[in-house]
Amino acid sequence: MAGKVGFVSLGCPKALVDSEQILSRLRAEGYQTSPTYQDADVVVVNTCGFITPAVEESLSAIGEALAENGKVIVTGCLGARPEVIKQAHPQVLEVTGPGELDKVLEAVHRVIPPEQSPFTALVPPAVKLTPRHYAYLKIAEGCNHKCSFCIIPKLRGLQTSRDAADVLAEAARLVATGTKELLIIAQDTSAYGVDIRHRTSAYAGRLVRAHLVDLVSELAHLGAWLRLHYVYPYPHVRDLIPLMAEGKLLPYLDVPLQHASPKILRAMRRPGGAESHLKTLEEWRSIAPDLALRSSFIVGFPGETEEDFELLMDFIAEARLDRVGCFTYSEVPGAEANALPGAVPEEVKEERRARLMALQQQISLEKNQARIGQTLEVIVDEYGELPGWVVGRSKYDAPGIDGLVYAETDGTVRIGDIIRIRITRAEPYDLYGEMVGRVPWKPGIPVMKNVAIETIQV
Ligand code: SF4
Repeated sequence: MAGKVGFVSLGCPKALVDSEQILSRLRAEGYQTSPTYQDADVVVVNTCGFITPAVEESLSAIGEALAENGKVIVTGCLGARPEVIKQAHPQVLEVTGPGELDKVLEAVHRVIPPEQSPFTALVPPAVKLTPRHYAYLKIAEGCNHKCSFCIIPKLRGLQTSRDAADVLAEAARLVATGTKELLIIAQDTSAYGVDIRHRTSAYAGRLVRAHLVDLVSELAHLGAWLRLHYVYPYPHVRDLIPLMAEGKLLPYLDVPLQHASPKILRAMRRPGGAESHLKTLEEWRSIAPDLALRSSFIVGFPGETEEDFELLMDFIAEARLDRVGCFTYSEVPGAEANALPGAVPEEVKEERRARLMALQQQISLEKNQARIGQTLEVIVDEYGELPGWVVGRSKYDAPGIDGLVYAETDGTVRIGDIIRIRITRAEPYDLYGEMVGRVPWKPGIPVMKNVAIETIQV
């Protein structure tokens, strides 16, 4: 029997998918996972290194693993800066960077050699860290942009897309094993396939282009909810909206716009401004009026004046986005924005964030109140505190970041079921209602056998 590996996974959904891949491969080699530090033979910590608080959290998680177990391998985004880790924790056994799955495996092998068994080699890689009914599907790694506040392209490199056939085979496997909602992620999801010139690959007897519109159209055959995250606001995103109107894609887009002042966006090296953002949103909504838009913004970026911030507030008031996240600017070691003049004092940043969120809270409340009396399809994530109550999400809400729907049911509902809820009460972020029916689950029939995955170079 091979040894036991403890695993600590920090960071964003993209890091979570890396953790799933590492754990899948460890399991395929016969390793077990340990839920406690004490029972583990070695602990792998998958870190986040994006902003200063994430670095601190990662360093503290490494320190805890060292104190509790002693044998620690570090990987993930902070692993791209080994000097930071080694300085704080010289005892770590090995430091590997983001996406270096092979190196993590090699490091584990050095501590606990793998078992040589012909049977363990046949175990399919299928570790998921999310509940059974939803899964993140990573379609590309890295990023070709140069946003001045971000070091992800330095950490993870330029974009590398997966072939469409590879993504489709993974999605089919997930749906066949109970996944009802696929959350499509990349650093920049809308640029999928650009780096491989949208080359085609063969899936289930047909050629599929590595392009988001083609990929989503193919994925739609599986029958699961499809949700897009981290969509950079390119003009071609417009081509995805008809797929929402056709019911192939959830009417939901997570588009981080970051700001609305053209001056600040230029300093961030991001496209657009309030006027062009509004025009884009209006166009999307004219095709899919039901579209729920989520965005995130940074306030207190170097050089942001009260006038720039007011531009952003006017945009928030006019855009009436459905979900908004707002972060105060914080320096990321190695980011170009650190050298920009006009640092905004912390208390001003906080005050601006509070003003923006208060404005958005009112918009969210009004939007949620308009849902009272409507019947929404809701996917059940967990049981509620009271008997018969469940907690779930509508098509307009992604897990972990958006609102929840609390509902009273007939008591026969299970986690992962999709049910109909009539909304009776609204709060700024969450909705309340009662069950009025079920949505039958009809997965597409994924082709699981004899699927030829081959790539045609163009
Ligand atoms: S799009 Fe910008 S913020 Fe997003 S990962 Fe790429 S460089 Fe970073």
